[in-house]
Amino acid sequence: MNINDICSSCENKLKPKVLQSAAGYYIGTFCSEHGPYARWSGDYYRSIQETQTALETLNFTLHSYLEDKLNQTPLQNYTVVSGLSILTGKRNAMLIPLTLGQIERYDSTSDFSLISLLNSDQREFMRCGITPKEWDDKVESIISH
Ligand SMILES: [Zn+2]
Repeated sequence: MNINDICSSCENKLKPKVLQSAAGYYIGTFCSEHGPYARWSGDYYRSIQETQTALETLNFTLHSYLEDKLNQTPLQNYTVVSGLSILTGKRNAMLIPLTLGQIERYDSTSDFSLISLLNSDQREFMRCGITPKEWDDKVESIISH
């Protein structure tokens, strides 16, 4: 990902990577001198591999910090899309690998050539604002009851 944080204390350039806190693994930035800097993923993950894949494919829900940052400096060919989840009513944001113009065409025409550029998680999010994590949690709560 060609976007970084700059530590406000020492001005080190911080690349996003897989980090861990008590809540689980997440994507974020870390300064070697000042510790954890910012959380980028809205969700926490259960494994390093899952988090690494989310980072490499840019397929993760955004923490509001990164959403604000990307609205100021957009990523080329990616658009921050936010939507209300019909499952939880929560407002989620995800990086979608389409330009803003393509997103508008997708919304107005459901262009099939654009749909094929999205993976199933991204399609689900575009349709009903539901993130992969919300599905997982839902399924888990059904199993455990
Ligand atoms: Zn620092």
